[in-house]
Amino acid sequence: MGARWWAVQERLRVAQHRFGRPPGSVVMLAASKAQPVEYIRQLAALGQRAFGENYLQEACPKLDGCADLDLEWHFIGAIQGNKAAQVAQRFDWVHTLASEQLALRLAAARPPARPPLNVCLQVNIDAEPSKAGVAPVAVADLARAVARLPQLRLRGLMAVPAPASDFADQRRPLRALRELWLELRGQGFDLDTLSMGMSGDLEAAVAEGATIVRIGTALFGPRPTRH
Ligand SMILES: *Cc1c(COP(=O)(O)O)cnc(C)c1O
Repeated sequence: MGARWWAVQERLRVAQHRFGRPPGSVVMLAASKAQPVEYIRQLAALGQRAFGENYLQEACPKLDGCADLDLEWHFIGAIQGNKAAQVAQRFDWVHTLASEQLALRLAAARPPARPPLNVCLQVNIDAEPSKAGVAPVAVADLARAVARLPQLRLRGLMAVPAPASDFADQRRPLRALRELWLELRGQGFDLDTLSMGMSGDLEAAVAEGATIVRIGTALFGPRPTRH
């Protein structure tokens, strides 16, 4: 576990240097779905602070099992309407906001005593009909709706592009996401986060301006199968 964590940190360091990104400008989110709480605690002991979970039911006992640690929890999975309230209550970030209806549900359930829930809009950057995320042409309207909700803090955009092995092919959709992000910033949205890049395209994501990379396999090894 430790060796993998250091290896990914090194990949990140090298990529930041190679692509002219300031050291520390890209945060690694540990995508810990299907991994046990002991692994999370081991990574936390090394200094890993941000963790991403995809399934609420699986995540809740892990959050409980780490309640004594100062960790930051990011929800990176699909959110069913009936789970929105618990996500808003338990997590610090949501990366997969893609509808106004979900935004309203999250906002209504965010406890007033807590800081606003940090959110990224998930964009269907490849425009694949079957994929999650808001269409690029609809992002600005959704951003406007989210920005009106004081319980949410709109931080940026997130995407999961179709896997590609060629570096240039990896960069293309990531660049499209950054361009959309720059457009929104140009329209006055105060965005500081681009959540993109996974184990296979970390370097391409750093090259294209990612500020959060979400890393599972390279950190934990192959995922155990879910039951
Ligand atoms: C699982 C997951 C990741 C991590 O993927 P790896 O290829 O294992 O690094 C990143 N983002 C999301 C949304 C995921 O579900």
